Amino acid sequence: MIILSKKVLIAEDEPKILRFMRANLEVSNYVVYTAGDGEDALRKYEQFLPDIILLDIMLPKLEGYQVLREIRQFSDVPVILISAKQNVSDKVKGLELGADDYIVKPFDITEMLARVKAVLKRTMTDKPDKNPDMVIGSLMISLGTHTVKVNSVDIKLTPTEYKLLVLLAKDRGCVLTHTDLLTKIWGAQYSEETHYVRVCIARIRQKIDIPEGQPGYIHTVQMVGYMMI
Ligand code: CA
Repeated sequence: MIILSKKVLIAEDEPKILRFMRANLEVSNYVVYTAGDGEDALRKYEQFLPDIILLDIMLPKLEGYQVLREIRQFSDVPVILISAKQNVSDKVKGLELGADDYIVKPFDITEMLARVKAVLKRTMTDKPDKNPDMVIGSLMISLGTHTVKVNSVDIKLTPTEYKLLVLLAKDRGCVLTHTDLLTKIWGAQYSEETHYVRVCIARIRQKIDIPEGQPGYIHTVQMVGYMMI
């Protein structure tokens, strides 16, 4: 069996950190491309179409948040933001813009490798499911084609948003706790990081939900979790 190496793009302006990350990723059998500023990151993305991007926030020319915003206009490629900022609000900002994960500098290299692996695994498309479509009101989820429609209009979800929606839909009427969702979608090491699930739910709601004032599909159970109704 041939296993193709995954392509990683690192956007980082500090040469020492860049070399360190590159060396470790190459040892772990990734093909590595690098960019030293935000504009270069966008160019390299288009040129090499990496499987994942490690994106520093403080970059010359175009900061990481802006790079992420531009990439999300046309691509669901997994992005891990890297920053010296520790605040939860910075993490949430990144997740709201569609980052898949967030690493704080200085980081442990085994931690970085573990996160790259976890994000790639989570965002990999599952084998098509033989189950029929799930219909919930005007929402239709086609497990075979991984598509979601509201009133027959295609809704573009990221792989993580799709997985979360399917998990809630399959257990419709049951409350899934934050820990359930975090463990099943992100992995056991994320079980305390409730802002990941909160931001992901908010993004799904923005994309699928019906106008304000009408009941949505996803019900919040305060302090516990979420339920599809
Ligand atoms: Ca930097």
